[in-house]
Amino acid sequence: MVRKKTTVAKIGSVYIGGQNPIAIQSMTKSVTADVDATVKQIQMLEEAGCEIIRCAIVDKTDAEAIREIKSRITIPLVADIHFDSRLAVKALKSGADKVRINPGNLGGEEKFLTVLEEAGNYGAAVRIGVNGGSLSKDLYERFGGASARALAEDALRYVDLAKRQGFDNIVVSLKSSSVADCVEANKLFSAQCDCPLHIGITEAGTYEDGIIKSAAGLGALLLEGIGDTLRVSLSEEPVREVYAAKKILSHTGVRRGGAEVISCPTCGRCKADVIGYARQVRALTREVAPYIKIAVMGCAVNGPGEARDADVGLAFGADSAVLFEKGIQVAAVKAEEAVELLMQCIQQIAGQGL
Ligand code: SF4
Repeated sequence: MVRKKTTVAKIGSVYIGGQNPIAIQSMTKSVTADVDATVKQIQMLEEAGCEIIRCAIVDKTDAEAIREIKSRITIPLVADIHFDSRLAVKALKSGADKVRINPGNLGGEEKFLTVLEEAGNYGAAVRIGVNGGSLSKDLYERFGGASARALAEDALRYVDLAKRQGFDNIVVSLKSSSVADCVEANKLFSAQCDCPLHIGITEAGTYEDGIIKSAAGLGALLLEGIGDTLRVSLSEEPVREVYAAKKILSHTGVRRGGAEVISCPTCGRCKADVIGYARQVRALTREVAPYIKIAVMGCAVNGPGEARDADVGLAFGADSAVLFEKGIQVAAVKAEEAVELLMQCIQQIAGQGL
């Protein structure tokens, strides 16, 4: 996979685009003006691996709260603004590192240009968002709805306006709740513009559907080298968004990290509770930081061979298990001792900074 070359945008201390790591974002679900609750949520997200946080700015009080929130967190903060360009300006004055706006719902080009000018004055970035809800009327009519082409055209139009104003600290997002439209819109845009892209499936849904839709859509884009920052949006606790984002990045191979546990689906040859062992290994390896591939397999005959690309793994018999590294058996133990032995081996490998 060759990553698409994009320009670099600066969001506080984080750089997006170019060869910079694809940054993980999430959004708080608290009322932003409730500073204690918002800071607490951001700190939890930061600990989970969130690198840029976005907060909804609904009114003046939210915008003013940014200053204090920023003094208590370390990751860059993005102010999420809809409809009211004055709130974007207030958020910038309060120290927002980036504002996310949908130019199509700000009430005219002039207001969009004012936000860009203020962002420039404060050294902040702007995310230009387009989606079906904010799509320009003429494009909606020309393309017969919020199609992928219409979204791409809309985004290109706003980027052009920003560049003509001399503002280029831009990130762009083209979002749809349809995986196919979202992927297509981002591909069309990416083929015509080198601005960094924030990718995400909007209103992806509750946990199960949301994760599957996000993995399908974001995975498709990332594997094409498209995407410079991402958010998995879920109707769920926000830390789950971060965990999901990390997994999507790791499983697509664009930013590997942590433990990848592969396990066989089991079949008639399996004589042990492999599903239970796999869950146990998954739970015990959540905190492992370096990338390591771990296998939990249901039979000693096929298991090590089928999982030979794993760094380490277990293959279970009825009462026993074999521990293998890169497909080669290195020990045999009783089944009930197997997970402990595996964990010792993982700690040893992870300690070597694998
Ligand atoms: S590893 Fe063994 S038990 Fe698991 S699916 Fe393959 S053949 Fe079946």
